[in-house]
Amino acid sequence: MTPGDAEPRMRGARLEVVFLDRDGTLNRDDEGYLADPDRVVLLPGAVEAVRSLNAAGIKAVVVTNQSGIGRGLITEEALSRIHERLIALLAAGGAMLDGIFVCPHRPEHGCPCRKPGTELALQAARHLGVDPSRSAMIGDLPADVALAHRLGGRAVLVLTGHGRRTDVEWADEPRPHYIANDVYDGVQWLILSQD
Ligand SMILES: [Zn+2]
Repeated sequence: MTPGDAEPRMRGARLEVVFLDRDGTLNRDDEGYLADPDRVVLLPGAVEAVRSLNAAGIKAVVVTNQSGIGRGLITEEALSRIHERLIALLAAGGAMLDGIFVCPHRPEHGCPCRKPGTELALQAARHLGVDPSRSAMIGDLPADVALAHRLGGRAVLVLTGHGRRTDVEWADEPRPHYIANDVYDGVQWLILSQD
């Protein structure tokens, strides 16, 4: 070890893709099911986080559970407009998403795509031609952390959204590799802890 070396166990493989949760991670999550595009408000650091991934050549992909669709509380059309708005707000700051992947199903359907199910992340990885084990997932819920572990990637819990409660109420689930103040803090840690 020479000065400047990180502890070996803190180092991770070079990242090819970072999966980002939506509500409570990129945008505010304070009203149940977000159904109105005009109410999409980015959280602090969201633009900088995605822009940093863009600059580092790491794919930035949203993976989100939206069971409000399956419950009939929000239409596919409203969801599309919400995502157009999210993309536009990020683009205004020079940040670009490489994809948005949605599970529309209700939890009781037991689909393979609802986080922590891996199907959406694996689909995204196939679509983008990246190795899902060279991934990280940043989110505010235990399902986000669990998904990262299932992919063999790095797990970052953000303390925005439900993150503070998630951190306090942690039960038996695998722990995150890092607990971040916000999504930009998480991205910076991920980029710096690569090999
Ligand atoms: Zn699903």
